[in-house]
Amino acid sequence: MVAGMPHILESPAESLPPWLAAHRYPAYRALQIRSWLFQRRAKTWEEMSDLPKKLRAELAEEFDLWTSTVVKHSQTEDGTEKLLLQLHDGGRIECVLLRDGERRTICISTQVGCAMGCVFCASGLDGVDRNLTTGEIVEQMLLLARLLPEDERLSHIVVMGMGEPLANLDNLLPALHAASDEQGLGISRRRITISTVGLPPAIRRLSQIDARYSLAVSLHAPDDELRNQLVPVNKKIGLDDILEAADEYFQVSGRRLTFEYVLLGGLNDGEDHALKLARLLRGRAALLNVIPYNPVAGLPYATPTQAAQDRFRDILTHGGINVQFRQRKGDKINAACGQLRRMTAPGLPQV
Ligand code: SAH
Repeated sequence: MVAGMPHILESPAESLPPWLAAHRYPAYRALQIRSWLFQRRAKTWEEMSDLPKKLRAELAEEFDLWTSTVVKHSQTEDGTEKLLLQLHDGGRIECVLLRDGERRTICISTQVGCAMGCVFCASGLDGVDRNLTTGEIVEQMLLLARLLPEDERLSHIVVMGMGEPLANLDNLLPALHAASDEQGLGISRRRITISTVGLPPAIRRLSQIDARYSLAVSLHAPDDELRNQLVPVNKKIGLDDILEAADEYFQVSGRRLTFEYVLLGGLNDGEDHALKLARLLRGRAALLNVIPYNPVAGLPYATPTQAAQDRFRDILTHGGINVQFRQRKGDKINAACGQLRRMTAPGLPQV
C-alpha cells in the first residue's frame, strides 16, 4: 500500500465512473474493472487483460488494490482455511473459509480487536484498536474467494470474526452491499448473517436501513445476572431491550432470528439454564445455535462434557425450541475469533 492512495475496494462503484470520465475512458470500463475484481478474482491491475495497457498503468498509479498482507495461512483436513492478515498500519485480523457440503461460507472481521469484553472470547482481551474500513472488509472477502477453485463461488457470509459488527455499521454496510450486488459477489442478503452481542439502537437502525440480512444475536445466558458476568456490556443494556429490538427486526425482515449461545462448562450449561432459556425463547420464530466453547489459551473456561451438552440440547428440544449445535470446524487452526492473532502476536509466546 502506498500512503495516500485511495483503496479501490473502498467504493469502486462510486469512485470509478467519475475517475474514468475525467481520464476520458468510456463508462463501460467501470463494469469491466469490477468484474475483474469481484468475479474474475484478479490479483493485479496488470492481469486485467482486456483493459488498455495505458489504463492499467494509470489505475496502478492512482489506486491501491490490496492494503493487507497474508501473514499466515492455515488449513485443516475438513477444508477450513484461515488467513491471518496484517493491515497497512500493523494491526492484525483474521478471516476464515469454511467448506460444508455445497456451502462455501466465509467468516469476516469488522474491527481490530473488540470493545465488548465477553470474558471467554480471545478477540476482546486487549480491547479494540479501530474499526476496519469498507475496503478492508471487502478485501477479506476477495482474499478468501481466491482460495476457491475457479468453478466454485462463495455462497454465504457470516460476520462473526473479530469485532462487533454493529459498532461499525457505517463501514460494514457498503461492504455487504458489494457482497450482495450482482456486479459484486452476488451473494443473496439472506445468506449474509450479521452476528451481534446485542446493541439495541444499532439493531433498530439496521432494521430501518436494510433488514434483508439475517441477524444473529449472541445471548450466552438466559438471564441478566449471568449475562452481566459473561458479557459485561450487558450491564448497560439488558436482555429485555435486546429481545425487543430483535423481535422488531424479525417483524420488519420476516427472517427467522438466530440466537447464539456459547456453552461454557459449569457456567451456563446447567439444566436450570436450559429450562430458563427455553422459557425465554419460547414463541419466537428463532433458531438457537449452541456453540460448545472453543478453549482459548490462558482463559479459565472449558468445553462442557458431552453429557452436559446432550442434556442441554434435550431440554431445549423438549421445550419446543429449534436448537442446533454448531459443528466445531477449524478447532485445530484456532478458528474461534481472535485466537490466531493472539498466538502470533509479536511478543507473545508461540503455541
Ligand atoms: N461480536 C459479535 C460477533 C463476533 S463473535 C457477537 O458477539 O456476536 C461470533 C460468535 O462467536 C459470538 O457468539 C461469540 O460469543 C462466539 N465466540 C467467541 N469466542 C468463542 C470461543 N472461544 N468459542 C466459541 N465461541 C466463541
